[in-house]
Amino acid sequence: MTKQPSVPTPITHFIGGQRAGGASARAQDVFNPATGAVTGRVSLAARADVEGAVAAARAAFPAWADTPPIRRARVMFKFLQLLNEHKDELAHLITAEHGKVFTDAQGEVSRGIDIVEFACGIPQLLKGDYTDQVSTGIDNWTLRQPLGVVAGITPFNFPVMVPMWMFPVAIAAGNAFILKPSPIDPSPSLRIAELLKEAGLPDGVFNVVQGDKQAVDALLEHPDVKAISFVGSTPIANSIYETGARHGKRVQALGGAKNHMVVMPDADLEQAVDALIGAGYGSAGERCMAISVAVLVGDVADKLVPMLAERARTLKVLDGKNLDAEMGPIVTRAAHERITGYIAQGEKEGAKLVHDGRKFDGKQAGEGCANGFWMGGTLFDHVTPGMRIYKEEIFGPVLSCVRVHDLKEAVDLVNAHEFGNGVACFTRDGNVAREFSRRIEVGMVGINVPIPVPMAWHGFGGWKRSLFGDMHAYGEEGVRFYTRQKSIMQRWPESIGKGAEFVMPTAK
Ligand code: NAD
Repeated sequence: MTKQPSVPTPITHFIGGQRAGGASARAQDVFNPATGAVTGRVSLAARADVEGAVAAARAAFPAWADTPPIRRARVMFKFLQLLNEHKDELAHLITAEHGKVFTDAQGEVSRGIDIVEFACGIPQLLKGDYTDQVSTGIDNWTLRQPLGVVAGITPFNFPVMVPMWMFPVAIAAGNAFILKPSPIDPSPSLRIAELLKEAGLPDGVFNVVQGDKQAVDALLEHPDVKAISFVGSTPIANSIYETGARHGKRVQALGGAKNHMVVMPDADLEQAVDALIGAGYGSAGERCMAISVAVLVGDVADKLVPMLAERARTLKVLDGKNLDAEMGPIVTRAAHERITGYIAQGEKEGAKLVHDGRKFDGKQAGEGCANGFWMGGTLFDHVTPGMRIYKEEIFGPVLSCVRVHDLKEAVDLVNAHEFGNGVACFTRDGNVAREFSRRIEVGMVGINVPIPVPMAWHGFGGWKRSLFGDMHAYGEEGVRFYTRQKSIMQRWPESIGKGAEFVMPTAK
């Protein structure tokens, strides 16, 4: 039997350099999705807790913003070293509360570490532009300065990586940061806060406020919070963008997705099946870049669907601690109910249920898992664009196959969808790949790459209702988001002519 703590661990905030219980008596259970057991109880912040975090961040900001970028970078280098030392510990924390398999959790931490490596280059990234002699005796240059207190609100599905899309860049650029993680898997955020402190980050520069809508509303309305980065579902992203903007904040709000993978008749079908199985069922489909729709062109479907069905049937669905597990449990009981509801809906709407993941239960997943939130991978064929299982984000291990005649129909289908996060095209034809990349209305495109998450220096962001705001997360856009540009024009008395000037100054 899996040993569970008899009393759930209290999971607190982290404010001003220490764990803090908070002013609110509100709290929520945290579960191990593999066993269904309650393992922790997370505090849910009241407005007073948010006020405390903002005050700590505001107090820490001036000295941190004045710290030379290279010294801020040295803290990031030390943090990077600590992250590498504690990578597996963080991955275990992820698996324990999220459920994703340990090896996938290790990958999540690694992709977060990439951004910290990028942030270590902040002196170069903050370097401004300089023009000598814009007019006789006058020079002009630009510099980028931090905004002040900024906040990040993050989803359950990447409790380490998504916060790391935000805070390494924000902090390295000289801001003070408040993280509001998902209350579903809140523990990794506290460990991150401790590692940042150990790396030498001054108290108050990084704070964690645990909570729900109340904490988010308090951050959105607080006049001292200058920018909000949000990642989560589209309805919340949309409302965060509107509310934040109404309160005069800079906002980037990344939303939901329905990612298609187009398989052309010339594609290597074995490779396409591997890609669809990994990207459809990896992390139980709970990735914003998961593939949830296979768009099968021409005669591909008749060959590919039986291959997919066999692989869905033999998927290794096990407790994530198991090193050869391919898929773990669903994150919560509520998510499990939502996903099974969608499968029933798909059947009702007339899609062909080729493999039914609802038949899998916890007893098959391993010892102690009988009460966990389990299901297997589900495969639908003959899905059509009018069906809810096509239109809506299911965010679970459900792969829908849509059959189309040609590339144009595939591109039109993808472009008509309300989401535009990620997309992939499997083909051997360079011209098809090129046309696809140019015509597709999606922010992140993979050619024979099913999950094209951009690297740390390229920036992450979807199009359409997958992103509200102008700037993508991390990369150079991240640096721009967390800084504001100042232009300085300078001359010295020797260059100043006599007399007042009443006409628009021009270069002389
Ligand atoms: P969610 O929208 O339920 O929650 C995201 C965050 O918002 C959490 O911190 C949550 O506590 C908070 N929140 C929830 N309801 C709120 C409300 N009414 N008002 C204010 N704040 C609220 O998302 P989730 O279920 O945690 O994560 C899954 C979603 O995130 C999926 O839609 C997925 O596609 C999306 N996602 C998108 C990206 C991306 O880069 N585009 C990346 C990861 C996840």
